[in-house]
Amino acid sequence: MKWRWCIGDKLFAAMAFLVLFVTLGYYGATQGYLKNRFNDYFQQKTTQRFEAYYKEHGDSWEGVESLTLPDESEPGNSDPRNIALVAPVGGVLFYTGTGDPDALIRQGKPSAIEVDGKTVGTLYADRWESDEDGRLKDHILDSMRTSSFRVPVVTGLVALLLGFWLTRLLTRPLNRLVPAIQNIAEGDLHTRIPVTTSDEVGKVTEALNRMAQQLQRAEQVRKHLTADVAHELRTPLSTIQCRLEMIQEGGRDVPPETLLPIHDEVIRLTKLVDDLHQLSLAEAGQLRLDRSPTDIAALLDRIVDMLRPEADERRIGIVRSYPARPLTALVDPNRMTQVFYNLLINAMRYTPSEGTISIRIEDGFYHEMRHVTVTIADTGVGIAAEQLPFLFDRFYRVEQSRSRHSGGMGLGLAIAKEFVEAHGGYITVKSEVGSGSEFAVHLPFA
Ligand code: ADP
Repeated sequence: MKWRWCIGDKLFAAMAFLVLFVTLGYYGATQGYLKNRFNDYFQQKTTQRFEAYYKEHGDSWEGVESLTLPDESEPGNSDPRNIALVAPVGGVLFYTGTGDPDALIRQGKPSAIEVDGKTVGTLYADRWESDEDGRLKDHILDSMRTSSFRVPVVTGLVALLLGFWLTRLLTRPLNRLVPAIQNIAEGDLHTRIPVTTSDEVGKVTEALNRMAQQLQRAEQVRKHLTADVAHELRTPLSTIQCRLEMIQEGGRDVPPETLLPIHDEVIRLTKLVDDLHQLSLAEAGQLRLDRSPTDIAALLDRIVDMLRPEADERRIGIVRSYPARPLTALVDPNRMTQVFYNLLINAMRYTPSEGTISIRIEDGFYHEMRHVTVTIADTGVGIAAEQLPFLFDRFYRVEQSRSRHSGGMGLGLAIAKEFVEAHGGYITVKSEVGSGSEFAVHLPFA
């Protein structure tokens, strides 16, 4: 089977690399640092030896050539260090070692000897540590090396084990999600994943469950669409068919009033087909919008003028509350006329005589964006809370009986929602059975 890097492996590899890096870095840094510290110390020690000599001899180098350094006293030292003391005015005062003092002065490491703030000589050495010091240094560095290697290796191993456990802990919930996501991708939209935590994985799980639910709903709506369309077509078509059969059987001239119901049904059918066409365009995001800055109050007034005769006849009051300054939104006036017409015609349809329809225009913020909000409220029958989530679905009617013959096909609100959303707006509803309903359309400010 081909090896694939999963998140757990990547996390573990990153941690292993980090531990290795820190171990080697720590090892290299401590070794280098200690070597430098030793070197400084041995240089200081040798310099102090000469300083002490200078002071002991009454601030003079007299007899310094016979000073004995620790190495020189060691019998059989095959590689004694080379050290030269040079007076401030020049001239070698002391030399120990093998080889040429001048070469040492040219290449060796200088260290000034200062007494009471005055440079009284300069030391040159090929190395500062005596053989004994060197052995001590090697011994300490060796033991440090072992322990400074052992400690990070042990902590590194513990860190790796911990990392291994942690990565498994982190990726286990994700691994549990994968088969469920695959199920959803393969079309099993009933799949739901139990949410066991409130962390990021819990949130992802919740979002996935919501997504599966939405997909399931969309799938159901799609399946129902054909059935709904067939159902909606059946009644007007059978009415037309019956009437035409009666006309044929009568065999007489057809008076115009006999054709009227047929004409009505044809008009209904044409409207249904047209509404469905608009809806499908909007749902596919292909609705053409001829946007222009539109005075929303003027647009609503034109619709109210159209509905006025029916409102007067049923003694329904229409109350308008507009801001002093005209509010414009960048919308397609024809599409928005249809939206507000659908909402107002519903308000009229479901409000009894003597009721009131209120139209309010405001500007404000919705979802942190400046919007023009049009609220259409009625004192009608209202809608039960459990119906509200489905109100904007196509062919949804609260009561099937108060549907077709009161004029509605359950498409008005679906069209309103799609048109408003095509403009980048939102539509919301609040309602209480017996008190009335309130629809609010929020449109982005022009
Ligand atoms: P219809 O064309 O059947 O009215 P809509 O999509 O416009 O379809 O409305 C869907 C359903 O919502 C309607 O059947 C009606 O029951 C309910 N409804 C819409 N507006 C109102 C309202 N203002 N008051 C009460 N019920 C309403």
